Amino acid sequence: MPTTVLLTGGTGYIGSWICKYLLEAGHTVRVTVRDLGKTEKFAHLKALENGVAGTLEFWEADLLQPGQYDAAAKGCEIIFHVASPFVLQVKDPQKDLVDPALLGTRNVLEAANRSGSVKKVVLTSSVVSVYGDAKEMSDLGLEAFTEANWNTTSSLRHQPYPYSKVLAEKAAWEMANAQNQWQLVVINPGFVMGPSLTDNSDSESITLMKDYLRGKFATGVANLEFGMVDVRDVALAHLRAAENPNAEGRIILSNTTVSMLDMSKMIKKARGAGWGLPFMAAPKAVIKLIGFMFGITPEYAEKNVNYPLRFDNTKSKQMLGMEYRPIEETIGEMVKQLSK
Ligand code: NAP
Repeated sequence: MPTTVLLTGGTGYIGSWICKYLLEAGHTVRVTVRDLGKTEKFAHLKALENGVAGTLEFWEADLLQPGQYDAAAKGCEIIFHVASPFVLQVKDPQKDLVDPALLGTRNVLEAANRSGSVKKVVLTSSVVSVYGDAKEMSDLGLEAFTEANWNTTSSLRHQPYPYSKVLAEKAAWEMANAQNQWQLVVINPGFVMGPSLTDNSDSESITLMKDYLRGKFATGVANLEFGMVDVRDVALAHLRAAENPNAEGRIILSNTTVSMLDMSKMIKKARGAGWGLPFMAAPKAVIKLIGFMFGITPEYAEKNVNYPLRFDNTKSKQMLGMEYRPIEETIGEMVKQLSK
């Protein structure tokens, strides 16, 4: 049933796909943007409105400014809180990652509390809120991480982005449990890949693919694994989490595990040429030594390189009916888009 929804982070990589699907489903979508004057950030969204049943509105709000989501949330039935920086190299982890993630989540959920109308909130968390370092899977004797696991090891110093995500998700659960007006469903995606609707995103998803394509990893990659999922599957899962009255709790979204070398092979297949692409995984000792050139600390290398990583996606299939797109297709389409 079409309704009015608030979408934070709608200008971004994942948020743009959520916006597209919401418009196609006929909803009135209130996208919050940091600056209504920076029209280049949301011009691509305006184009999505053509020929669809839904309508689009833009409202100004910044995650760091208390009270700024109140006006946009009033009258909305559902909030999709997607906005949060996904960057790994930052100068000040508190200011650049934790504050927008944590204070931003509190601001948006306080707006939900004050709205009087919001019944459901879908929050974009991450698998990095489920675990900190890959090593924990074997340390805990797990075959795969599930929604029961929590990241207890990240900090401002070690893995600040995962730290920002777990702090934000925990704050969201605390606020959800302290009221009865709205229900919270949390989506925990793995590494998201696939074509982008925007050219203006700083998302690490796009940065990583661009790094491969411009030969940054030509000499070799670390033996690191990611749980990977298509951006369109992630967007669809958000809509289903909102629509399905039985959707509850945290829901991991990960199609399969892909190593950095696997990814290189998929890129080569899609592009039809191997130049600039890594053809081997460098030994852990080398990664510990030169990893700083790629933003990898010795501690990160120690706790993640050569450790298998698995995620149990059963709940996403059972609760949201997810049928994941093949990752080769995901990577292939992204390579073609970014190689143009
Ligand atoms: P993205 O393209 O960089 O999108 C981030 C969004 O957050 C943008 O719309 C950005 O707005 C907004 N934002 C950042 N700081 C803000 C602030 N201070 N005030 C208001 N809005 C702000 O990144 P993404 O990959 O789509 O990530 C979206 C969400 O998915 C994040 O919560 C991220 O943690 C989560 N996630 C991503 C992945 C992945 O692999 N990409 C995996 C798991 C979870 P501007 O347009 O103004 O910059």
